[in-house]
Amino acid sequence: MTDIPRVTCGSCQVPLRPEKNGETVEMTSNGRPYYIISADRWKCPICGHEVLTGFPLKPLALSYQDGYNDERKGVTTSVEMEPTYGRNVKQNTKTPESGDEKTSP
Ligand SMILES: [Zn+2]
Repeated sequence: MTDIPRVTCGSCQVPLRPEKNGETVEMTSNGRPYYIISADRWKCPICGHEVLTGFPLKPLALSYQDGYNDERKGVTTSVEMEPTYGRNVKQNTKTPESGDEKTSP
């Protein structure tokens, strides 16, 4: 009971490895700045899937606070808190039928 993993890959069934600690993440809500927070990026050594986890209880800055833009300079990635299906999912998902509807005159 000594090597309890923090995060594991549900597909490859192995522990994820830390890729980057303390990454600065901007959380957005409906595409608009919400707050900035730090997180740890973990990566599966087999399939390469990455997750952001280890969020602290408090954000680094809230969008309405002074100095938000200064904090924003360190942001390396963003996460949408209110994903609408189609916007976030569409990029990675192929829908074989969708081509016919759009291309037919
Ligand atoms: Zn994996």
